Amino acid sequence: MSDVSANLTEIQARITKRAKKWGEDPDTVTLIAVSKQQPIDRVEAALEAGHRVYGENRVQEAQGKWPELKEKYDGTELHLIGPLQSNKAKDAVALFDVIQTVDRPKIARALADEMKKSGRNLPVYIQINIGAEDQKAGIDIADADAFIAECRDVHGLDVQGLMCIPPAEEQPAPFFALLGKIAKRNGLSKLSMGMSSDYEIAVQFGASLVRVGTGVFGARG
Ligand SMILES: *Cc1c(COP(=O)(O)O)cnc(C)c1O
Repeated sequence: MSDVSANLTEIQARITKRAKKWGEDPDTVTLIAVSKQQPIDRVEAALEAGHRVYGENRVQEAQGKWPELKEKYDGTELHLIGPLQSNKAKDAVALFDVIQTVDRPKIARALADEMKKSGRNLPVYIQINIGAEDQKAGIDIADADAFIAECRDVHGLDVQGLMCIPPAEEQPAPFFALLGKIAKRNGLSKLSMGMSSDYEIAVQFGASLVRVGTGVFGARG
């Protein structure tokens, strides 16, 4: 259990070091501890250590643990980092604090409707299919600018930044740089990028949110 706490400290230190080295402000980088498929005692160890920002990739799995944990640990912020179906939009808006995976008009519309109904106007990120992979979620790069505008202007979503998952077998740096470029030309400053294997590189390229699972909690069950 104390491993989790030590891992958090170590990762935070690495983030700070890499940010400083490349002239980025370490205070603008948030570590999201990705708790999907992790035993509950490891998640509680992180909460007990004072960590408050978490990511889950499935609405249903998150519903099974987080309402109770949020109740118990004040100030917990939960990010949805996995694909969303429109029939789960209502549940997602009720439970999560940030939605990172808005990637098509149907989802944007469903989220906007639910946010209006519930009065919870959550910050969202647009997921970009940065490596143009057939099997990956995310809006195509060619459609990104128009979709971002649609999310803001038509749906009134609070678009804060962009999110991506680069292709697994390739160097991530060019993809992180490209995400930054797309964000900049759309007036967005926040980038959600970097996982256990590449979060330091992501920080070097200006990440605002890094999503680290196994690096914090160990291998998933
Ligand atoms: C699971 C997951 C992560 C964390 O991956 P690790 O390799 O365990 O750090 C990050 N981002 C997304 C979108 C994920 O689904």
